[in-house]
Amino acid sequence: MRAVVLEAAERPVRVRDWPEPQVRPGERLVRIKACGLCGTDVKLRAGKVPGVRLPLVLGHEPAGVDVETGRPVVIYPHLSCGRCVNCVEGHENICLATRGTLGITAHGALTELVSVPAGSLIELPEALDFEHGALAGGVVAVSLCALRKMGPVLDRWVIVAGLGGLGLVGIQLLVAAGARVIASSRSEEKRRLALELGAAAAVDTGGSYEEEVRAITGGVGASGAVDFTGAGEHVGRLIRCVRRGGRVVLVGYTSGTLSLPYAEVVMNGVDVMGSRSYTREDVRTALGLMERKKVDLLVDRRVSLEQVDEALDQIASGTVTGRVVAVLP
Ligand SMILES: [Zn+2]
Ligand SMILES: [Zn+2]
Repeated sequence: MRAVVLEAAERPVRVRDWPEPQVRPGERLVRIKACGLCGTDVKLRAGKVPGVRLPLVLGHEPAGVDVETGRPVVIYPHLSCGRCVNCVEGHENICLATRGTLGITAHGALTELVSVPAGSLIELPEALDFEHGALAGGVVAVSLCALRKMGPVLDRWVIVAGLGGLGLVGIQLLVAAGARVIASSRSEEKRRLALELGAAAAVDTGGSYEEEVRAITGGVGASGAVDFTGAGEHVGRLIRCVRRGGRVVLVGYTSGTLSLPYAEVVMNGVDVMGSRSYTREDVRTALGLMERKKVDLLVDRRVSLEQVDEALDQIASGTVTGRVVAVLP
């Protein structure tokens, strides 16, 4: 079968012949129909993700058909153990004994067939197609998982920093939950899009947006902020944008060290939290919200396996507004 394989860091990924998966006991074979592409794939190709063994089949945002039942499914990509304290408490995204993540630390789904633990399959509702299924996990659930950490948002000011696919979905989720959203981005086009999606205000991160946020929130500051930029210099600024007792949730990241305004975090009692990926429950919630059209997907491009490398170039260049999905026949 064909697969999109990363053979060496800083080299183009290519489509090559790959052996069909062996189905082990307790596993299910899935015929892949769609798989989202994102900045993580770009980081993988650049050799910037630790713990990766090459060659690697990419693809961590998959949906397809359960070969045994013929039913459409979303695949949960983390091979979590199901038994550790984090798994038992419903945080399988941060499993203590994980066997890896499809497309990152285990072979992924940018291929025709994968075999995964039966518990990794989440049924895709009839009203949604495979693209929606793929992005339910890779985009909507990631955003949801971070926003759950925000606590109550009804009628509260929440900043969404970074308006890529995740940020634009985050705005829609927060609006659906009754929050007052302040979107922040350097791009005027993305700020305009944020306002169209229901953000109450949009600020330019090029300027002194801390003062702007204060003014918008009546001098108090926002209840919370979620950072999708992964640009460390923003985090200190977001800490200054939230009110006393506010919360800053980090989703984007880079390697290296983050410097924080120490005294302000302590004296203002600000919570700074990390949010990684998503749980199965987040996928189910995401599918439900998408079924009820609370979230618009903003698919920018559909590509074939052969076009994946070129699509990663586009994602890396920042010229993609929404999401890119690889689709298989
Ligand atoms: Zn991704
Ligand atoms: Zn576990």
